[in-house]
Amino acid sequence: MTAVIRARRPLPILTTEQIATLKPELAEVIEYRKSGLSLNHIIGCPLECGYCVRHLFDNFGLKTPRALMSDEDAVQLLTGHHYFRAHKTPIQLFNRATDPMLPVVKPHTFNVLRLLDEQGLTNHVLVITRWRVTPEDCAVLNSYRHIKLTVLVTHSGIDHPGIEPVDSAIAAASLKTLFEHAKTYRTVLYWRPIVPGLNDSDAHIARALELSQHAHATVFTGLFFRDEIAAYYRENGLPEPYQDTARRKIMPEESEQRILRAFHRPENAELPWGPLFRKTSCGVAYAHGEADYNGHYGIRELCDICPLAQLKLCKDAWQAPDLATVTREARALGAVGDIEVTDRAIIVEGLNEPPRYSLQHAFGYQVHDRTKPHHYRRHGRADLGWPAPAA
Ligand code: SF4
Repeated sequence: MTAVIRARRPLPILTTEQIATLKPELAEVIEYRKSGLSLNHIIGCPLECGYCVRHLFDNFGLKTPRALMSDEDAVQLLTGHHYFRAHKTPIQLFNRATDPMLPVVKPHTFNVLRLLDEQGLTNHVLVITRWRVTPEDCAVLNSYRHIKLTVLVTHSGIDHPGIEPVDSAIAAASLKTLFEHAKTYRTVLYWRPIVPGLNDSDAHIARALELSQHAHATVFTGLFFRDEIAAYYRENGLPEPYQDTARRKIMPEESEQRILRAFHRPENAELPWGPLFRKTSCGVAYAHGEADYNGHYGIRELCDICPLAQLKLCKDAWQAPDLATVTREARALGAVGDIEVTDRAIIVEGLNEPPRYSLQHAFGYQVHDRTKPHHYRRHGRADLGWPAPAA
């Protein structure tokens, strides 16, 4: 049965003059992020989550979603992008400046998914929401034939109205609906941001454990606490969770240990922690029965909670790339200095995140910047909340 998308007038497209007033990063429709090449031609969100990355783009004040271009133009821009590889590059949709399931945004979400699917593309597509998802929406999400679609439902359980004005019960209901109706797509409980003292009590963890039964996988992560977000907390008198800010997500060791203890089921030899993952791409890949496309298997300590069958899948797929090939591709992207392939990662210098992610997704192997080393067991997360690494 073909799912019917209810017609709704598309969002107005901003004029060139209006776009010129935006922060350049926000007017940039495509951004390469670790979990995929991200398409963001709709901006604006009324949900007001205190920790939202929209603070980083000076976009928090824009509450009414607006389009920067048509869906057709945006998809063309994405698939024609120099980093885009058909059937390979993971894609993220509206994950930076709006929520893809807001009523006025949803028709665009479905339209973009359709436009990608009609091209026969089999790339992963990640849609992250905390908003309402109905059984009718699920019928549309099940109607795509080619793309590997994952709907990640953000659920924090934070009940501080200044930090999280949206009731977490909405996300919980959406997750259950999505899981119940899933046929071709997969759904992930995106348990984040976990903030010590705010939403990591035993009751919060028990709630997440219960919700994880309604998802194909669960991913838990910490908080991006950047300068702009810290400033918003201060201006609004919100309790600041950390004294310092950090470039990477903060996930303190103590919270992680308590979560792992609660999820541990030693009697289940195949899935001792259930389908629980520290990394988004690991949860997404597992949900589709594939090896992690970010090559996290190289960071072996990250895999210590993984289902055994998934470990085998990743082990079999993970292969150190040929140094000459890597060197050629990295140099073409602008890498300088020595290029190494270790048993954990490709190490480069002089490449910022987009070209590094491009290499990482092309080789299925971690790509690290020599000047920003990943510390053991920190899994590429911030150092806050962990003991100082040994000298
Ligand atoms: S085995 Fe490792 S890389 Fe693969 S999904 Fe599990 S945690 Fe991720």
